[in-house]
Amino acid sequence: MKMTRQPLVVGNWKMHGSIAGNAELLHGLRELLPTSGAASAVCPPFVYLPAVSAALAGSPIELGAQDVCEQGEAGAYTGEVSASMLREVGCRYVIVGHSERRVIYGETDALVARKFAAAVAAGLVPILCVGESLQERDSGATEAVVVRQLEAVISAVGVGAVGRGVLAYEPVWAIGTGRTASPEQAQDVHACLRGRIASIDATIAGSVRVLYGGSVKAGNAKEIFAMPDVDGGLIGGASLKAAEFAAIVAAATATGK
Ligand code: PEP
Repeated sequence: MKMTRQPLVVGNWKMHGSIAGNAELLHGLRELLPTSGAASAVCPPFVYLPAVSAALAGSPIELGAQDVCEQGEAGAYTGEVSASMLREVGCRYVIVGHSERRVIYGETDALVARKFAAAVAAGLVPILCVGESLQERDSGATEAVVVRQLEAVISAVGVGAVGRGVLAYEPVWAIGTGRTASPEQAQDVHACLRGRIASIDATIAGSVRVLYGGSVKAGNAKEIFAMPDVDGGLIGGASLKAAEFAAIVAAATATGK
C-alpha cells in the first residue's frame, strides 16, 4: 500500500553550540527555511532547549532533544532529563538509540526500548536510530542487526507505539566520516525495516517515516531522498550551517513526496 509521508529533516547538533552561535544559526534557519514543504526540526544540547524553543516560536521549525531518561517518574536519577521535562520546554521529538549513545555510552537494545516507551508515554515523538557497524556490514549482518534493534522496541512497546515514532537508519560507518551509503544501500535497508513492520501491520508500515542519516550534505541529499522508502534525513555536521541545512530541507521538499 502506498501512502503519502511528509518528509522530515532533523538536525542533530550533538555536543556543539553556544548561546551566541545558536542565535546566529537559528536566525539563518528562520530566514532560509520555507513555511511549507518538508517538515524540519533541530535537536540542540539539553541546556539550550528553552532558548532555542523561544527563538523558534512562530517558525515551522520544530524542536527535539538528543536523548531522554528511560524513567517515566521524577526521582533520584542524577544527570538525567525526563520526557515530561522535554515536553515542558517545547520538544516534539527526541532521538533515542543514536549509535554514539550505543557505542560510547553502552546503551543496550533493552535500554533504548525503555527510552522509546518513556518518550511515547509523555507524548513525544521518538526518533529511533538503528544501524550497523562496518564490520557487521562487511560480514553480511546488516539486516539482522537493524531488525534486531527494531524488534527490541516492537516487543517492548508494540507496533502501534512504534508507529507513533520515526525510524532513522544510520549506518555507523557513515556517521561523521564523509562516507554515505549509496541510495540503493539505504533503500534496501529502509525497505527491510518497513517490510518487518508490514509483516505485523501494513497500515503502520505505510505511514511510519524512515529517515536516512550518515554524512548527508546538500550535494548528496537529493538522490538519497528520492528513494521510495527514504522519508527525509537525520543530519549531523551539515545541520550546523544554516545554508547547508536549508538546502537539505529543500532537497526533501523537492522530492514532491
Ligand atoms: C548523526 O549524528 O545522526 C549523523 C548522521 O551525523 P553526520 O550527518 O555528521 O554523519
